[in-house]
Amino acid sequence: MGAWTAFWAQAGGAGYDGRAGGGRAVTMLDAWGTGHPRASSGDETRIIRSAHGADRLYTRWSRQARDHWLRFEREWGARLMVQAGALWFASRETGFEGDSIAALQTENVPHERLAPAELVARWPQIGADEALQFGLYEPESGVLMARRACAAVTAAFQRAGGRYVLAAVRPGESEGGRLLDVVEPSGARWSAETFVFACGPWLPRLFPDELGKLIRVTKQDVLFVGAGAGDGRFRAPALPAWADYDAAYYGIPAIDERGFKIAPDRYGPLFDPSNGERLVDPDSVRLARRYLRRRFPGLADRPVVESRVCQYEMTPDGHFLIDRHPAYDNVWIAGGGSGHAFKHGPRIGEYLVTRLDGAEEMAQDGPDEARFRLGPRVSQAAARTGGDDMASTWELF
Ligand SMILES: Cc1cc2nc3c(=O)[nH]c(=O)nc-3n(C[C@H](O)[C@H](O)[C@H](O)COP(=O)(O)OP(=O)(O)OC[C@H]3O[C@@H](n4cnc5c(N)ncnc54)[C@H](O)[C@@H]3O)c2cc1C
Repeated sequence: MGAWTAFWAQAGGAGYDGRAGGGRAVTMLDAWGTGHPRASSGDETRIIRSAHGADRLYTRWSRQARDHWLRFEREWGARLMVQAGALWFASRETGFEGDSIAALQTENVPHERLAPAELVARWPQIGADEALQFGLYEPESGVLMARRACAAVTAAFQRAGGRYVLAAVRPGESEGGRLLDVVEPSGARWSAETFVFACGPWLPRLFPDELGKLIRVTKQDVLFVGAGAGDGRFRAPALPAWADYDAAYYGIPAIDERGFKIAPDRYGPLFDPSNGERLVDPDSVRLARRYLRRRFPGLADRPVVESRVCQYEMTPDGHFLIDRHPAYDNVWIAGGGSGHAFKHGPRIGEYLVTRLDGAEEMAQDGPDEARFRLGPRVSQAAARTGGDDMASTWELF
């Protein structure tokens, strides 16, 4: 979110014509470097899909973001997207996938509904059990090369004249409802007209009063399973990215000689993104194998060849936070990715820069954009009780 926002702001906003200049003078400060392994964006790959249930705004944003990914992939000469397709396993006629089909139709997104027999005929490496009612396939979706994309966006930002600095900061002095500067642990200070904090899972610790209870940071285990020698069935493009909403698993075919990725889409325990040990729980392996046995039997007994621990930064309603800070006129927050923001990155940055440029009216998507506001969500979250405010127990750096 931060890199795309910095890029659009530096390069000249949504009307960017590929030439440097015309935008703002932007400095991007990052505590650990672009796409580092603690960042939520720092994994190898992320899924890009348009299906978002009945939610038409995210469906549309995902398509608009895809246009940007493809455009900049061409312009920058970097491989950012693998159009392997995205496949949903539906276990009910009505539900997320059925609602998605209606929204995809309305938004003119290419898709196919596949009966279990058709699905297995196309991808015989998939196991169809009695739970599988149908498949929803998006042929133009697929996989984004996440860590590599962070580096590519940051490099493009620098080519457009932006300044990139390794520095960890927190809000500094303020005056009359404006933030004057941010400050490093060493005491070094950076001043600016406008500040954007796109600090992913660190936002609750940076703004504990406003975001401490609004963003919940959870540990998410990710496994890469190695197929048998010479077995290409689980690599892109032989297999699409996939998701099973009801079983709460998703995965990505092997790309760039990494394994077949599988991860649970349910919330792990609370996690400290700065100092948490990134070791997967043995139970995550056991449960993933159980799912593989059902849906990808050819991998059920294959070894885990790599693993990652990432974190979700969840808002209670799963919607992103893209808004002005309630106490400072010149401070903006972008975060609360809630496990689905990576693909939307270029659209989020473009939207935020449009708002920085003064477009307060929610022009394009109308009242739907109210979902991104901090406003009432901060007070609702503050009223939440329970022991999930662990951000108050960890240090920022
Ligand atoms: C396991 C997993 C799977 C996911 N799968 C998908 C998927 O398939 N598709 C999808 O679209 N999304 C997916 N997501 C969600 C997506 O990855 C995140 O929503 C997104 O990457 C969040 O990006 P961000 O820019 O908000 O945060 P981050 O990537 O964490 O970036 C925050 C940056 O802020 C910097 N920072 C923090 N604090 C400071 C400070 N005080 N000073 C300076 N710099 C600071 C950090 O160093 C970091 O670089 C997944 C997430 C996880 C964890």
